[in-house]
Amino acid sequence: MPSSLPFLRIAAEEAFAPPEILGQYRKLIAAEPSLDPGFTSLMGFYLGSSPRAVQVMSRMTDLGEIRLRDMDETGIARQILSLTSPGVQIFDAATAVSLAGLSNDYLADGIRKHPDRFAGLAAIAPQTPAAAAKELERGVRRLGLKGAIVNSHTRGEYLDNPKFWEIFEAAAALNVPIYLHPNTPPPAMIGPFLERGLDGAIFGFAVETALHMLRIVVAGVFDRFPRLQIVLGHLGEALPYWLFRIDFMHRAMVAANRYPGVKKLERKPSEYLKENVCVTTSGMAWEPPILYAQSVLGVDRVLYAMDYPYQFVPEEVKVTDGLPISEADKKKLYQTNAERVFSLGSMGVEASL
Ligand code: CA
Repeated sequence: MPSSLPFLRIAAEEAFAPPEILGQYRKLIAAEPSLDPGFTSLMGFYLGSSPRAVQVMSRMTDLGEIRLRDMDETGIARQILSLTSPGVQIFDAATAVSLAGLSNDYLADGIRKHPDRFAGLAAIAPQTPAAAAKELERGVRRLGLKGAIVNSHTRGEYLDNPKFWEIFEAAAALNVPIYLHPNTPPPAMIGPFLERGLDGAIFGFAVETALHMLRIVVAGVFDRFPRLQIVLGHLGEALPYWLFRIDFMHRAMVAANRYPGVKKLERKPSEYLKENVCVTTSGMAWEPPILYAQSVLGVDRVLYAMDYPYQFVPEEVKVTDGLPISEADKKKLYQTNAERVFSLGSMGVEASL
């Protein structure tokens, strides 16, 4: 790994999965293929025998040699790991709670062996909000994890439903972020996406996750938990592009009292999206939207991510390396923003090399 760089590359949205959970996915697809067509399509593919699927999954379960070699080859100093989508959120509540614990123990084990190279986010089971809050607390306090990952909807339900708010309460109290990662659109939404193969990372992920994020904003979650921080991948799932129109229309809707469920917020929607949300560059190695996100949200709120092993394209690092921004801002993008948002502690350039 090059040691002459004035920053470390920390990749903030990198997936893993214990073999046990992949086995449970397989079982679920075989037993209930119509439970969630998006899940069956996505995991049915990645658990299949195509060369791409086999390659991705061989990397997915590894928290050692393979992953470290790939990181070294691409100059990634540290990965912030999270259980792959849809996490445990596809399972029934009891299975989900037990597999979240299993996944977090597996992750903590991997981090313990390579503490300079890995950090991680806790998998939680929103199906049982109290257990999810408890597992987040165990993950942070006992396992040293740095936040939680929620893979968007949980069996068609969204976190803006107040029954889930104890998860936000726990994250705010622990001062850790929630990474709101994509999931395939739920059964009620997926039809028009699936017909044209647009359900996954190509587009459906972003539409569904952006919807989830906006539901959280307009439900007033950040008025109730002003310190709560949420991290979005894929440069904010296109939301930074929409801020002006969202503010304009939200103000008009509230003034017209058009929807009983839409209430006035303490701030404009865009203000929450700028002050309670950070975004990562996962899967978006493209200069114009990275610069745009930095200009709209601020350079302190855009973090680097690769989206390994799904989008492991070594050349993509060069795009971020080559951005026309100052070295100081590049260090924020690659290193110090992640250290701040995930409380990693300063690693120093030499620390992990
Ligand atoms: Ca991802």
